Amino acid sequence: MSTDGHEELHVRLGPRSGLQLAVAVHSTALGPALGGARLWGYKSPGDAVADSLRLSEAMTLKAAAAGLDLGGGKSALCAPGEMPAERRRALMLDLGDLVESLDGRYVVAEDVGTTTDDMTVIAERTSHVVGLPAERGGTGDPSPSTARGVAAAMRAACSRRLGTADLSGVRVCIIGLGHVGTALAKILAGEGAKLLVSDIRSEHRAVGAELGATWLDPGDATGAECDVLAPCALGGAIAESAAEILRCSVVCGSANNQLADESLSHTLHRRGILYTPDFIANAGGLINVYAELRSLPSDRVARLVEGIGDTVAEVLDDAESCGLTPLDSALDLARARLEAARPRAPARLSA
Ligand code: NAD
Repeated sequence: MSTDGHEELHVRLGPRSGLQLAVAVHSTALGPALGGARLWGYKSPGDAVADSLRLSEAMTLKAAAAGLDLGGGKSALCAPGEMPAERRRALMLDLGDLVESLDGRYVVAEDVGTTTDDMTVIAERTSHVVGLPAERGGTGDPSPSTARGVAAAMRAACSRRLGTADLSGVRVCIIGLGHVGTALAKILAGEGAKLLVSDIRSEHRAVGAELGATWLDPGDATGAECDVLAPCALGGAIAESAAEILRCSVVCGSANNQLADESLSHTLHRRGILYTPDFIANAGGLINVYAELRSLPSDRVARLVEGIGDTVAEVLDDAESCGLTPLDSALDLARARLEAARPRAPARLSA
């Protein structure tokens, strides 16, 4: 595991919870490092640290590509199998203290496994937290904004690959019917898309049924024949073996780090599959919490989220004219914005 390119990494055993917390700050070149707290049953403490490092870098790219004055950071919290409410509260207070000790260089928000209620607990220990419930002056659950941004990205990608931005009749397979996947399914159903849906939790079947979607077993979803594959579960949904069996024209979803390896963008390109860079498509949630941090009005937020479609079109234009994959073009866009900002500070590690 390498911390190359990261500014800070903090690993703690929470004094109240006894659970491990890792906070990685990848870059503050463009502004405070903003990124969610992921609560997950990691197989080992090292896996959590690796996740925080990988995901914080993705947050830097996401903010830069979205044109926001924010850097990238992420927390990874090790969840035990069972977590009574009191221990969860203790973990969030531990995280609040760690975030406070970073003096605003890192701002925490929700991610997989954490909620607006968790952010409220964290706010007892630090003001460097967003994603608070509306009654606490926050913008609430960012998932609906993320889903709107993914839909905007999908229209732009379909316009390029299918010749139309109209999603009516387009077959979209959503993998992961959680917060974002469900919100996306509702938007797409409203636009007349033909939905295929899948989740490892069979209780989500009912959501799919309400929307008239066809349910797929998780093992069948990645290779399902469709126009658009929308990975909305965890990262690494497209591994090397999967990249060879995809039967779609476009990949566009909310999951972070959808490709198990960046080189797979070339495999998809070679196979004529348009891969919409994840950190561009899923920036709506970041824009939502950015709005909370900067007190932006809702119409400005809506324009920024819809603008994700324009960023996708810009990246696809650049990719076509320079002979690049969309991912390489998106990385160039983000890195150019980072390079234009101030140089990074030397790495700071603590454990
Ligand atoms: P979530 O936990 O609410 O939903 C994830 C869903 O995926 C769950 O229902 C889970 O059962 C399902 N799942 C897990 N593994 C699966 C598999 N192998 N096959 C099928 N289903 C599987 O999370 P979320 O908030 O909806 O986020 C989804 C993804 O989008 C994550 O990768 C997250 O990092 C990313 N993301 C979320 C936001 C946001 O605003 N919530 C913003 C940006 C990126």
